[in-house]
Amino acid sequence: MFVAAAPCRTLFSLLGLRHAAAAAAAPGRRGYYGRSGPQQAARGRLVDLRSDTVTKPGPEMRRAMWEAAVGDDVMGEDPTVNELQKVAADMFGMEAALFVPTGTMSNLIAVMVHCRERGDEMILGDMCHLHIYEQGGSAQLAGVHSTTVATLPDGTFDLEQLESKIRHGYPDAHYPRSRLICVENTHNIQGGRVLPLSFLQEVRALADRYGLSVHMDGARVMNAAVALNVPPSTILQHTHTVSVCLSKGLGAPVGTMLAGPRDFVSRAVRCRKALGGGMRQTGMLAAAGILSLHEMIGRLEKDHQNAKTFAQAVTECDPSLFAVDLAAVETNILRFRMTDPSLTPAEFCARMAQVDEEEEATLGQGVRVLMYPHFGNSVRAVWHLDISPEDTQLAIEKLRYVASRRMKEKIRAQ
Ligand SMILES: *Cc1c(COP(=O)(O)O)cnc(C)c1O
Repeated sequence: MFVAAAPCRTLFSLLGLRHAAAAAAAPGRRGYYGRSGPQQAARGRLVDLRSDTVTKPGPEMRRAMWEAAVGDDVMGEDPTVNELQKVAADMFGMEAALFVPTGTMSNLIAVMVHCRERGDEMILGDMCHLHIYEQGGSAQLAGVHSTTVATLPDGTFDLEQLESKIRHGYPDAHYPRSRLICVENTHNIQGGRVLPLSFLQEVRALADRYGLSVHMDGARVMNAAVALNVPPSTILQHTHTVSVCLSKGLGAPVGTMLAGPRDFVSRAVRCRKALGGGMRQTGMLAAAGILSLHEMIGRLEKDHQNAKTFAQAVTECDPSLFAVDLAAVETNILRFRMTDPSLTPAEFCARMAQVDEEEEATLGQGVRVLMYPHFGNSVRAVWHLDISPEDTQLAIEKLRYVASRRMKEKIRAQ
């Protein structure tokens, strides 16, 4: 019982840890006395590595939003939305695409369209975003049953296990009907792992053999395309449908593209409306999305570089408090494990987020670095367009400072 319960407890306590780290990182809670106000705030640099969702639109994007032609999109009359949908469909190699408010709604709509009958079943990895972080919306709102396969460290799953989960009993009244397989690329919880094209090809072959559909939660599929140095359509040829976030590394303030065959997208339009996602003059948001798809993909490579630079520094950090698998750092997400049992991920994140006088004296300035505690005694850091190579160096200095400070405390305590 205890063994079975442990992983669940990790999942739930993670949320608590996140809030603890965020609270420690809150601006009003800096770890030194009698200093506050804008002057002090300006002295402390902030390096926010919590997520690539924190990016803010730059001047060019704001200008595009300001100038966007708009219309009523529920009537299909917003020219900028229509253009974005065309750009996305062409880029993804899909027949059609739909602009939706969020990745969560996009995945839910995909599930609703693929699994049309209440009690239909989808198969997905037990560590995927759809299963862990979307509140079970597919069950709660769509009446879709899930069965899971074990997510492997590289974000894939075992194909034999996948095959074994496919139901064959329908229409026997005992069984749900298998309809859908979901994959996630890059894999968020596993640290931005890129699914190999050969894996996608095999999943698709299996799906075709049993008449199932394949949906990719491709919130960060552009990171995968950049890492593999292929156009996104090379990846997406293996899936029926895909959901792609514009509001993460691509820098738009809002929005996700859901793409697939034309009849899938027509049905998706209906679901989006039922879920309250039919927006009106939304061309102002779509204009940001067009800029994301045209201008922001190439630069993802820089995020991958910065993540690798930081990962290298983590491995070389002396004293060594961390373990990191450098080969697993494929895109913009880094996970590293704590090896010193007395320093928890939450405590480490709190220290990275805090500035004290000793740090200001040692480093010449205070640097607040925000990261989240993550699964399996690890810490997660995510690179994005608001993090420069210089910010990355500042974060490395802070890491070294926290590690050496920790060592001094340990020696003093002995
Ligand atoms: C962020 C994310 C989503 C959800 O996107 P929201 O726009 O935050 O709802 C879905 N899947 C993955 C893999 C993500 O990283």
